[in-house]
Amino acid sequence: MQKMALYFTSLSDEKIKCELCPHHCVLENGQIGFCLTRKNKEGIMELLNYGQITSICVDPIEKKPLFHFNPGEKILSVGTFGCNMKCAFCQNWEISQQPAPTRRVLPEQLVSIALERGSRGIAYTYNEPFVWFEFVLDTSRIASKEGLYNVLVTNGLVEEDPLSLLIQSIHAINVDLKAFEEETYRRLGGDLNTVKRTIKVAVEAGIHVEITTLIVPGISDDMEHLEEEFKWLASLDKSLPLHLSRYFPNYRMSNPATSNSKLIEAYNLARQYLDYVYIGNLWDSNYESTVCPSCGTLVVRRDRYEIQNEGLDREGRCKKCGKKIAKVF
Ligand code: SF4
Repeated sequence: MQKMALYFTSLSDEKIKCELCPHHCVLENGQIGFCLTRKNKEGIMELLNYGQITSICVDPIEKKPLFHFNPGEKILSVGTFGCNMKCAFCQNWEISQQPAPTRRVLPEQLVSIALERGSRGIAYTYNEPFVWFEFVLDTSRIASKEGLYNVLVTNGLVEEDPLSLLIQSIHAINVDLKAFEEETYRRLGGDLNTVKRTIKVAVEAGIHVEITTLIVPGISDDMEHLEEEFKWLASLDKSLPLHLSRYFPNYRMSNPATSNSKLIEAYNLARQYLDYVYIGNLWDSNYESTVCPSCGTLVVRRDRYEIQNEGLDREGRCKKCGKKIAKVF
């Protein structure tokens, strides 16, 4: 059974235009879109990855990364193939930049798997979930009805209408803000203004939002641009958690890994504007743990995926001063 895409328009001569993301691919009969997941089949946009799963695993929620949403919990995490960006340093390129072997799982089956494995939520992750839009929409709606929560780990490159529809059944989102310069985004196959809009819409919708920026030498490590990013995030909400993540050579990029000193410089700068800043892939507990910004108590100690959150009460408040620090679903 092939499923049809929700966001496309018909042009003349069996051509169609995808309306899901700002690439707006125009496809002739038989052509496949930039993201590898949508095909023009005789004037209809067919989905090549609906119910096609490449990866499924129960992960710590901190691995998404989400540090302020149900801290210490494990979550069923799934992905398909394809992406609407082409980052040369992609850490998951085997499934994002080429079709990969899949196993077929329908939305109802995925929700049953989550329940059977004792997961209270589902994370759509590993590759870009917005190019799996229709499957994520169907699954997240069923999951919500079953009392599960839904998490997106995304590059945020999506048009506003589909975003507004999907986030109605999403509870938490981590957006990968890859750089804070339009030209850099264009080189990666994306669009900064669209990603900024996604973050803003998600914040205004009241879902839980965290941000990740991979610090890639020569691409996203310019301190002036980073400072603009930190200021902009703070203007939305200074309690938005920010994960500054260390890059390692991968896929088509062989530049050396980000230095510790660069990561710590960016961390210190970000802390001038934001309450919660973390460094990913450095594996130093000092940069992974959560300190209450009101009273200075260490409320969550993280050491890789060992989480001690005794400093928080059951509602995610600092036990000492009562400040709300984490969202608990
Ligand atoms: S979702 Fe895919 S097919 Fe649609 S416009 Fe974006 S890259 Fe093109």
